[in-house]
Amino acid sequence: METPNYKETLARADPVLQAVSDGVTVQDATGRLVYANDAAARICGFDDARAMLGASTSEILARLDVRDELGRKLDTSRLPGAEVLAGEHPPPVLVNTRENATGRRFWSIVRSKGVRDQSGRFHLVVNVWHEVTDQQRKKESARFLAEVSSRLAASLEYEETLASVADALVPELADWVVVDLFDHGKQRRIAASHVDPRKRELARMVGEIYPLKAGQPGGVLNVLQTGRPELYPVVSHELLRRGAHDDEHFELLRQFKISSVMIVPIVVEDRTVGTITIMGAESGRHYDEDDLELAMEIARRSAVAIANARAYRAAKDAARLREEFITVAGHELRTPLAALQLQLESVKSAADSGALVSSPEKFAARLDKAFANVRKLTRLIDGLLDVSRLSSGRLVLERAPMDLAALVRAVAERFAEPAQRAGCDLRVDADMPVSGRWDSARLDQVLSNLVSNAIKYGAGEPVRVRCALEDGTAVVTVEDEGIGIQKQDRERIFGRFERAVSERNYGGLGLGLWIAREIVREHGGTIKVEGRRKKKGAFFRVALPVSA
Ligand code: ADP
Repeated sequence: METPNYKETLARADPVLQAVSDGVTVQDATGRLVYANDAAARICGFDDARAMLGASTSEILARLDVRDELGRKLDTSRLPGAEVLAGEHPPPVLVNTRENATGRRFWSIVRSKGVRDQSGRFHLVVNVWHEVTDQQRKKESARFLAEVSSRLAASLEYEETLASVADALVPELADWVVVDLFDHGKQRRIAASHVDPRKRELARMVGEIYPLKAGQPGGVLNVLQTGRPELYPVVSHELLRRGAHDDEHFELLRQFKISSVMIVPIVVEDRTVGTITIMGAESGRHYDEDDLELAMEIARRSAVAIANARAYRAAKDAARLREEFITVAGHELRTPLAALQLQLESVKSAADSGALVSSPEKFAARLDKAFANVRKLTRLIDGLLDVSRLSSGRLVLERAPMDLAALVRAVAERFAEPAQRAGCDLRVDADMPVSGRWDSARLDQVLSNLVSNAIKYGAGEPVRVRCALEDGTAVVTVEDEGIGIQKQDRERIFGRFERAVSERNYGGLGLGLWIAREIVREHGGTIKVEGRRKKKGAFFRVALPVSA
């Protein structure tokens, strides 16, 4: 019987098969490759069909890493072509081919059909490789993102969850992932994940030993500054050398065999707070724009997780502060109330015993004390009302022309007696008029708070209040020589309910400075506190624009 000359047949069919977008390969009865079109050659890592057909079976296999849908290595006997030759009827198989040299990956659905000769035996197998790389990558991305999201949602400790996200990317997307967060320009490497667990520590250490190199045209610091992602599909030695600090660092980086890099910014509320650096290394993979898009989505989701965690922390802190405040407020209200109760009881018993008539001056003194406690209670309650007013942004200033220096003198006069009782020498330096349009009652509140704090925390030492015009700005300073305020507390004490002393030693609601700052801000001014150079005590400075 005459064997059909399939070579001739295939040669004749070639122009038609080259026009097909699917890859087509043909094997003979021994499994040897006898035909391939260019599309098939490309999927198998060759430039064209000619190059592929010129290679031996072992050469072809050496170029490729062939895996099934689940990522398991596929040996040639499990490819559908081989199964057809073994007399089976294999279903289409999803095959992942990865070019070892470049790390490029293709996904194809491979269908194989046998061609019988005249005696009815299979003498050829035709394999059609229908490429589905795009669909498969989309599926993979969706799977990744679902995994990333579930890891991010697992806990509100975002440093932990970001480390777990880094782990999730290895080895499917990367051989090496590092996550850096930046706080006031300080870098913290919070995760370093590597396919080889032994290299993890090394990856972390490289970050610690060699802080990021500044002043480069690209790299992590650049991404941090610009907020724009960077993609290096191929990492050359040149590029590594530019990123290295010295020869030793270069050598270390070289040992990591980095083949490709993506650096994406983590942006929270318009600020880049960190970066995720995703690297291909041993696997030899090279990233492209689609990979970068996926990396950016991972960074966006990480940013949302960070923002949520921060908001949760802030809400928790606020709830804790509020609770503390309620305890302190209860205590603060109770003290003058208890005193008032005692004073009224003593007035009543004096009235009952007729002592009222015999010594009315004693009666008047007791009533004065009772009034003082009523005033204290009123002040506390006014403070509480201010909190709700200010928190809902309902502070309306009633501006009118006034002399700030005169107000300073009046407040100081009011505090002369409490200062004396505390053993404080209250000195006022406010002789020259300082005129402007301000809300006098509100500024009275600010000044009263500063002076009463200076007396309260002033340890019986002198307190100085000054008012003057400095470069067209009205300035009031209140200076004491008391317990002072630690540097780390100087901003915080202007927060609502914030205090820097224990409630056991000093009463107070932690509201005065917060209200003062709100009022001063509403006037377009500033209020801040400084330490006194090499001396004990605190120095508060209020600056108000005069032209408003
Ligand atoms: P309060 O004095 O009622 O606690 P404030 O808002 O007026 O609330 O002050 C907040 C905190 O700032 C105080 O608890 C105290 O720790 C600190 N502070 C304010 N003024 C002074 C000062 N002159 N010296 C030392 N600490 C001060």
